[in-house]
Amino acid sequence: MTAVSNLAQQLSALEITQKSDESHAEVSRLLTKFAAPNPSKNKPPLPSKLALKSSTSSLKSSFLNSSQSNTKVLKAKEAALSQKKVDIGTYDGGLEADDHGHVSVEEAPDLALDSSKTANPTPNWSLHNFDIGRPLGKGKYGRVYMVRTKPPTHQYILALKTLYKAELIKENYERQLRREIEIQMNLRHPNVLRLYGYFHDSQRVFLMLEFAGKGELYKQLIKLGSFSERRSAGYVYQMADALSYLHSKHVIHRDIKPENILIGLNGELKLADFGWSVHAPGNKRKTVCGTLDYLPPEMVLRQSHGKWVDHWALGVLMYEFLCGKPPFEDLEDRNGTMRRISRVEYTFSSKIPPEARDLIAKLLVLIPQNRLPLTDVMVHPWVVNNMPRSCRKDESQPGTSSSEKVKEEKGR
Ligand code: AMP
Repeated sequence: MTAVSNLAQQLSALEITQKSDESHAEVSRLLTKFAAPNPSKNKPPLPSKLALKSSTSSLKSSFLNSSQSNTKVLKAKEAALSQKKVDIGTYDGGLEADDHGHVSVEEAPDLALDSSKTANPTPNWSLHNFDIGRPLGKGKYGRVYMVRTKPPTHQYILALKTLYKAELIKENYERQLRREIEIQMNLRHPNVLRLYGYFHDSQRVFLMLEFAGKGELYKQLIKLGSFSERRSAGYVYQMADALSYLHSKHVIHRDIKPENILIGLNGELKLADFGWSVHAPGNKRKTVCGTLDYLPPEMVLRQSHGKWVDHWALGVLMYEFLCGKPPFEDLEDRNGTMRRISRVEYTFSSKIPPEARDLIAKLLVLIPQNRLPLTDVMVHPWVVNNMPRSCRKDESQPGTSSSEKVKEEKGR
């Protein structure tokens, strides 16, 4: 508990406005500090909990129950624990196999990622610092691997995302990636996927991401068809919490959809993919971005937009959770979808109960400013009556988020 709230306090102290080199220095400190088993606490810090998860549960529980006076035994057990490693799977050799050519700074100035730019590569990290494990997936610009940091850093499991510079240039994605890095590296919320740092070589950029142990939300939705009210309400609560945090930092995500949400080890949502996000204090934006089914009327109508686009997308997401398809979908006709969005024309499936309809209708509102505030979403009767008790934020413990609480309760 203490370790968790210390972590939360330290993370929340790092503001979005801070200088990025300060946050880079934080990376190795946080990785080191919260990876090592700490015998003086009742609970191991989060990363070691993950690293020790596989086959060490009985050893772990006896370690946790040891009395402080028995330091010799404790130290021996701690040493044994630190030698046990979580299975990160087998590396498929993909990093060596792919050759996308070397890219010079002249070819892609935005990918130079050198110290003259705002976002500096995180010092002291390179591919040599990691044991590479199994591939977690393949994205548009490269593969994602499960990796473990090598000693002397304490063992820490991460997802290492590879992006080939040649692909980034081909797709004209350099600026977007730079923005994604700058924004995501400064965000600290339990329902927002952490980007701990990045580094690069002549071919690739590597992103050191928090490992989302339960994979993609999208795949779960496809598998199950739709989610129960209980599960949907917990998810809506967590997304509203995450978006409320982003907006408090003047960040608009602009691409909320199931494909951009991952699931953490304890089932908590992790908002990812900040490629379309923008840090726009007080600004009205005009770029049309995001995915058609989730676009709000103001974007379809090419009007200026602000943070309210995320409120609209949350309404679409909730609808899709409950009935398995988005409300304005028209598989045959893109223009049909756009027309329906601009007129807010949708019908409720019978799978969506009245209280949930009330919340969706309060988010899918034509006039952006009239959409329900996120703090009101979190206390809407449908959310409150359906979400799992363990998800509820305990107001008496500021800084304790819903998902941290789930972890704590499970740990008891
Ligand atoms: P992306 O390039 O972000 O589309 O990622 C490709 C695939 O890798 C995703 O579809 C996920 O299955 C997996 N993946 C990406 N990031 C993570 C992560 N942080 N933790 C676990 N799996 C991930």
